Order: sequence, then structure tokens, then C-alpha cells
Amino acid sequence: MNAALTAAASELAFYRSLDNARLTERIQAVRSHLGPRLLILGHHYQQDEVIALSDLRGDSYQLSQMAAASSACRTIVFCGVHFMAETADMLANRPEKLAERHGERVTVILPDMGAGCSMADMAALEQVEAAWADLGEVIDTDEITPVTYINSAASLKAFCGRHGGIVCTSSNAKGVLEWAFARRRRVFFFPDQHLGRNTALRMQISTDEMPVWDPYESDLGGNSAEALRGSRVVLWKGHCSVHQMFRPEHVHQLRAKHPGIKILVHPECPREVNDLADISGSTSKIITTVEQAPPGTKWAIGTELHLVNRLKHEHPEQEIHFLSPVVCMCATMYRIDLAHLCWSLENLATGQIVNQIVVDPETARWSLVALQRMLEVK
Ligand code: SF4
Repeated sequence: MNAALTAAASELAFYRSLDNARLTERIQAVRSHLGPRLLILGHHYQQDEVIALSDLRGDSYQLSQMAAASSACRTIVFCGVHFMAETADMLANRPEKLAERHGERVTVILPDMGAGCSMADMAALEQVEAAWADLGEVIDTDEITPVTYINSAASLKAFCGRHGGIVCTSSNAKGVLEWAFARRRRVFFFPDQHLGRNTALRMQISTDEMPVWDPYESDLGGNSAEALRGSRVVLWKGHCSVHQMFRPEHVHQLRAKHPGIKILVHPECPREVNDLADISGSTSKIITTVEQAPPGTKWAIGTELHLVNRLKHEHPEQEIHFLSPVVCMCATMYRIDLAHLCWSLENLATGQIVNQIVVDPETARWSLVALQRMLEVK
């Protein structure tokens, strides 16, 4: 361990020795001291103690956009995962924003560098570049649009920017695929096969036209050249470790036990679950669907546990069940606790920046091209 890491570990041990009430007091003190120059962003999947101390609550892209729109903010502390902090850094420090602030950068901090995303980690740039080269052996890559889910590293967003591709969120994935098909015959979709498949199925694309590219298969991602030539959407073999846990039998069990219950799931769930659900939608859609439902509605919700528990708490007028009998929570997001938040904030207050996330200018430039294309999709 190098000296900086050793010092950080011993400082963190001190913060871990404090209880939540004490940590909350100290965090509040830094918030009051820094005022609107500091924005703490809390992703919907965060634990309640962190959400209670967040200035803004939302999904990853919403949060980055809201923070970037603030003219007073100079530091973003992103209580989410690594790719979210990268997106915040790129949006808050894009050229027009830097010009408005006369060149002053917004600092983005991820309280725990271990807060990655297992889905984003399933598609490394080198793997995608190798796959692109292999695809080029059997089909013309000029007729493929690469589409990356926002839950991916900045380097993949930049790959899409450089190759005429685009970013999507779980809210706009269908519109993005329509945009892509208006320009080229095929799509290469990564890293989440389920969002890609569930969205393409809604567009009447059959599974025969959606081969799955396994980066660990040496030969054409485990596909025949013929299957790739017949493809409309090539799906990367990645998934979310949380949403992958929901199974069709959970749907059947809940329906048998609670007649009339509505099944509400995220499109990162496998196709078999998505097909059985009454409603499938992004985190924001799940929240607004529950908010707008009449009292007494029964729900079984298939998304991250902390969000479902919070919905249960905030909507006692409705009957909300978690779709799975086993705990499905985002273990990496859970790493951001009050001890890490307090540690990063007190360092910040003394002028020490810890765990800063900075995307290099070239990667940011091409990522922003792909993100800008997404914003043009209606
Ligand atoms: S819930 Fe899934 S996609 Fe979201 S951050 Fe966690 S592992 Fe990644």
C-alpha cells in the first residue's frame, strides 16, 4: 500500500468509529460551510442515510444534468458509482460550461473509489474494440451503429462518439434505436444485453436477429458469420447483477399470493421477467407510476431494494412488495456510506481533494458527441 492509501485507510478507520448521528452532524457542518458551492448527489439506489443528506436525488443522468445546470456549484460529491461521476465531470466541465465559469472547473468526487458498476465493468474498451474489429471481418462496420447504455465507462461513450454512435438511457432506449436504424442497418448494443433485447423486441425485432456477443469466446463472440450477417442488433453479453436476480417464478408466486397485484420492473431485468410484467420502465418511470397510482394499488416491484423500500415507506397508501424473495441490492453503490461521505467532505473543507474523478479531454470530447446525439433524439 502506498503512503497516501495508508493515510486514507487510517483516516477512514477514524470515521468508521463514529456513529451515524455524529457523522451526520459533521457532514451537515461541511454543507453549511460550503453552501451552494457544494452539491451532494444521491442516486435512487443509495441507502436512506445518504439520501437524507443529498441535495439532489435522481437517476444517474438526471443528477448529472441537474448538477451541471447549477451556476453556483463548484464541487459535486456523487453518491453513486464510478461511471456516474465520470458523466457528471464531463457534463459539468463541457466547453460552454467552462466558458461560463471563466475556465473554472467543477471538481467531482466519488466518496469511495471501490464504488464501480458490475455491468459497466463487463465491457472494457479493449474488448469492444477487438469485437468491432472482428465484426468488421464479416460485416461492413459502416452499416453498424454502436449504442452504449449510459451505464458504461466514459471510454465506451467516446468509442460511440468516434464511430457515429450514440448513448441511451433506460428511458429513451427505443427512441435511440429508432434514431440508429434511420441511419444504418444494424446496431451493436452494449453493455446490457437485457435492455437491448427488451427494447428491440418492442420494435418487432426477433431474437433470431439478435445474436449475443460473448467477449470471452475467441471466435466471433461465439457466433457464426451467418448469424452476424443476419443480425439487426448484436447484443453484448453483459448484465446488471441486481436486475438479473429477478426470475419468472417470482412473478408467478406474487400473482398467486396477491390476486390483482401489478408487476412493475426495470428493463434491465431478463426478457422472461420483462415479458410477464404489467409495466416495464426506467427508475424514473417506476417512481412516477407508483406516485400516480390510486391508493390501495398492489405492486410487486423488480428493481434495487433500497429504492423499493423507500417507495414502500413514502407510499403507505399503497401495498408494495419486493419482487424477489432474496435481497437484490447494488453492493457497489452500498459502499458509499456516511463514513466515506464525511471523510471526503472534511478533506474537501480543508482544501484536500480526495477521490477526484477526471475524464481526460479527448475521451470527454468524443463522449460528449455521443451524449449530444442522444439529446437530439425526440
Ligand atoms: S444497479 Fe446494476 S447497473 Fe446500476 S450501478 Fe448497480 S450494478 Fe450497475
